[in-house]
Amino acid sequence: KELSSSQIRQMYLDFFQSKGHTIEPSASLVPKDDPSLLWINSGVATMKKYFSGQVVPGNPRLTSSQKSIRTNDIENVGRTARHHTLFEMLGNFSVGDYFKKEAITWAWELLTSPDWFGWDPEKLYMTVYPKDADAKMYWEKAGVAPDHIIPVEDNFWDIGEGPSGPDSEIFYDRGESFNNLAADDPENYPGGENERYLEVWNIVFSQFNHEPDGSYKPLPRKNIDTGMGLERVVSIFQNAKTNFETDLFLPLIEKTQALSDGKKYGADAEDDISFKVIADHARAITFAIGDGALPGNEGRGYVIRRLIRRAVVNGQKLGIQGAFLDQLVPIVGEIMQSYYPEVLQQKDYIAKIVRSEEDRFGETLTGGLDLLNGLIADLKKTGGKQIAGPDAFKLYDTYGFPVELTQEYAIDQGVTVDQDGFKAEMQKQKDRARNARGKQKAMGLQHDLLINVKTPSDYVGYTQLETHSELTE
Ligand code: ATP
Ligand code: MG
Ligand code: MG
Ligand code: MG
Repeated sequence: KELSSSQIRQMYLDFFQSKGHTIEPSASLVPKDDPSLLWINSGVATMKKYFSGQVVPGNPRLTSSQKSIRTNDIENVGRTARHHTLFEMLGNFSVGDYFKKEAITWAWELLTSPDWFGWDPEKLYMTVYPKDADAKMYWEKAGVAPDHIIPVEDNFWDIGEGPSGPDSEIFYDRGESFNNLAADDPENYPGGENERYLEVWNIVFSQFNHEPDGSYKPLPRKNIDTGMGLERVVSIFQNAKTNFETDLFLPLIEKTQALSDGKKYGADAEDDISFKVIADHARAITFAIGDGALPGNEGRGYVIRRLIRRAVVNGQKLGIQGAFLDQLVPIVGEIMQSYYPEVLQQKDYIAKIVRSEEDRFGETLTGGLDLLNGLIADLKKTGGKQIAGPDAFKLYDTYGFPVELTQEYAIDQGVTVDQDGFKAEMQKQKDRARNARGKQKAMGLQHDLLINVKTPSDYVGYTQLETHSELTE
């Protein structure tokens, strides 16, 4: 029988609990006390306090399923089989406790034991840092065939000063039918860019400190940090073509289908991208707003705004009439209920915020799309290739089109946006605003957004505080 996403998540956590790990709850997407980060983007991002030694965990062995947002993957959504803006990262962590041997031996047991994932060893490939003889040895000892261990030069995790070390990535061979590269393409190998080999897990062996002078000093206490994408694992278990044909996304796609003007998922490649973008973004905005962020002009707020507007434009492409995204919020809540009951509990609040942002954009959407389509048609007539900065700025300022959205839309039609020209216009406006605008006005905007929204009282205070600084810079 096919396992559900909830069962798969739980199996991972149970496995590491059976190896002495404590299960940490999924932390808020909004980083606590970490101004360097806009969103929690991995399991380890929530564990910095332990790895830096600032806080000593009760148990040095931890495991979690961490909701994560990666804005760098926005444009991959729907175009690759495997990328989301919001995804869950399963992970196991050793804070100066076990190291390479255990991390590798347990990984192999989880992946291949019939009591756990039970995957066919033939389908698995491990990449290792070429100089990391230990990782290679432990994989071989665990039972990996030597020709399934691939040296990859990039497998070194290093973000400048601080802990760093080699890593090992695990790829699942989804088979011939997933080949998207020619046999002689240099990227056609596990670890390369072939969609046939799906990266499911990254195990980082944090064993050096990258010193200010650029040298690498061995750490006295070595750490393990791993990340496994739940949606990718579920796609394998549920034999889905992409992450989207799984129980995590299908109910959202089905609802979107019902709202569209008769569009069917799977019938047209371009429409499918729109279905996937909507399902993906609906999850991200629901979780982000549930964790206290709000649409706005800066920082996190701008990310939410961009995701909502991007989803709305994709809804237009599917012929959806009127606001619709708020109707996806309770479905996200139901899908995720077993591990994130708070989302369903807050669904009315979240849906109202989404609706209010959608309505705000809806008022100018048609005008904006008319302008944009007109600009593109004119360019095509004259053989032009670029939307001018002032035009992109007008789309942003008057019609609420984030420049990234204009750019993506334009690229699909074979033209680009003069980004520098846009930035120059933006700067001019900021200079004007700096003189004219007081905080009063920004607070008015915020008030406007929340005015019709009823929320649990303590929560409102929190979210209002949270976004004030973003709206007022
Ligand atoms: P990719 O090469 O596929 O973009 P990555 O190497 O950037 O992945 P890591 O930073 O190693 O990813 O993150 C650990 C794991 O988290 C990955 O192996 C993958 O399973 C999952 N993951 C990373 N980014 C995403 C995403 N945008 N959507 C879904 N899962 C992701
Ligand atoms: Mg990536
Ligand atoms: Mg990768
Ligand atoms: Mg990786």
